[in-house]
Amino acid sequence: MAVPFRRTSKTRRDKRRTHFKLEVPGMVKCSQCGEYKLAHRVCKNCGTYKGKEVISK
Ligand SMILES: [Zn+2]
Repeated sequence: MAVPFRRTSKTRRDKRRTHFKLEVPGMVKCSQCGEYKLAHRVCKNCGTYKGKEVISK
């Protein structure tokens, strides 16, 4: 089994970790109510999508 030849420095380790952050941050403000919602999805606060299209509520 392969084993690390050299210890990974703090800098190298931390630089690698800059890539893993919160997944799917696709949060945008709703154009109707200004609430944060998922992009390309109906707003769960006011039930609108692209201006009007009232689906629920
Ligand atoms: Zn909304």
